[in-house]
Amino acid sequence: MTTLTRADWEQRAQALVIEGRAFIHGEYTDAASKATFDCISPVDGRSLGPVASCDLADANLAVADARATFESGVWSRLSPVKRKQAMIRFANLMDANAEELALLETLDMGKPIGDALSVDVPGASRAIRWSGEAVDKIYDEVAATPHDELGLITREPIGVVAAIVPWNFPLIMTCWKLGPALATGNSVIVKPSEKSPLTAIRLAQLALEAGIPAGVLNILPGYGHTVGKALALHMDVDTLVFTGSTKIAKQLMIYAGESNMKRVWLEAGGKSANIVFADAPCLKAAAEAAAAAICFNQGEMCTAGSRLLIERSVKDQFMPLLLEAMQGWKAGHALDPATSVGALVDNQHLNNVLAYIEAGHAEKATLLCGGKRTLAETGGQYVEPTIFDDVHNSMRIAAEEIFGPVLSVITFDTTEEAIQIANDSIYGLAAAIWTSNLSKAHLAAKALRVGSMWVNQYDGGDMTAPFGGFKQSGNGRDKSLHAFDKYTELKATWIKL
Ligand code: NAD
Repeated sequence: MTTLTRADWEQRAQALVIEGRAFIHGEYTDAASKATFDCISPVDGRSLGPVASCDLADANLAVADARATFESGVWSRLSPVKRKQAMIRFANLMDANAEELALLETLDMGKPIGDALSVDVPGASRAIRWSGEAVDKIYDEVAATPHDELGLITREPIGVVAAIVPWNFPLIMTCWKLGPALATGNSVIVKPSEKSPLTAIRLAQLALEAGIPAGVLNILPGYGHTVGKALALHMDVDTLVFTGSTKIAKQLMIYAGESNMKRVWLEAGGKSANIVFADAPCLKAAAEAAAAAICFNQGEMCTAGSRLLIERSVKDQFMPLLLEAMQGWKAGHALDPATSVGALVDNQHLNNVLAYIEAGHAEKATLLCGGKRTLAETGGQYVEPTIFDDVHNSMRIAAEEIFGPVLSVITFDTTEEAIQIANDSIYGLAAAIWTSNLSKAHLAAKALRVGSMWVNQYDGGDMTAPFGGFKQSGNGRDKSLHAFDKYTELKATWIKL
């Protein structure tokens, strides 16, 4: 926890030297075209300065550099224990610079400074440290061969990895990719979101300072349709890892098919169901978790519990508890350490969220709280935490990912109906169930088509468990040793003895 006040953070923000250039072969550099875009803070509309707007020329440079660095073996053939040591130094440097990273993250994308400091920076450094620590403890395999042959099954780094990441958890999403990609010896090019490029740009320098050689980590800020597309279509990128929307995820699969069939691993959208059964062990705890599940990070969470399914027989008891819990989540200035709901990432996204609230009204859902823009006088993009009741699963606010603090409440009568509604989604990222019945918990968990399943809690998880989606929420997994599969090729070597 921080003892700094809003005035302290404001002062630090004024003094902050913000780097907006790309990072190629260990040096900050302008885009080849010299083009920049203005980085605007959603906290209060202030300009954070120019950011390099990279495009195809920069992608070509960075990929060539990443390839040459990979081939040189300076990192790819370094012993695992040495890679581990460098990654632990990198994680330690992130922690040592936590306040600066947290401030950059908040100014850039609007999340509350308290969360940036207590969740985002430690979550990101843990991802780097965990992957680094793991890499000298992994063994390859020997096949069950005839007596006069030896069969080795080994994992090799894949080569050049492009990581295209979103704006909602810029540091954490970047480090979920960087951890296993670097640990396994690859060279990586990160394309941060144009809405939140600053922490990735800063990370590159910390990686270099930690002893990760120049060229192993390059950062290309810029737009998706320019530099993102250039990386996705590049003939010398071996693997493309992505977190972002399902729409762009599908496009990336096409780009891979149109180019070199690079491996494509996608963490995409969600519309997760949070199912509260009448036999929940504690309705108050379920209500508090339901409020947090839609309000944390302004609802800009792939795993947001955006569909609350409540069993009819306890609904009258539950709804006052939910409304009370929502009172604890209020939009406030993102640099105020007391704030729990910060600013939405930009004006365009604020308008998207407000349009979904309009759609809720138009489809005759019942507004229970919120529903409006707030704190407009700050110049920032804030919206009130919002609940709609009487929602049907076919309404747009139940079917589509809003990515804001807007909760849809759907009522059900039976377990079968709850599971049918929960699974009636193009997405399959996560779900939660609240019940005291062990068999019901297990049966429901098996029946729900999601990558992460929570029982009597919402949003549990850690580096030790894989994270990713079923259906159109994506493929492959971030976190845990399973993530290493994405960054390595499996080789079988047969030796005649
Ligand atoms: P987005 O898909 O709009 O953008 C993601 C990234 O893709 C950005 O860096 C963007 O510049 C880039 N991009 C856009 N068009 C591109 C193109 N044609 N070629 C290459 N790159 C392109 O997503 P967003 O708005 O930044 O993030 C929100 C989305 O991310 C939500 O759908 C959310 O659910 C999802 N998300 C998923 C997870 C997960 O782990 N499953 C985690 C966080 C966020």
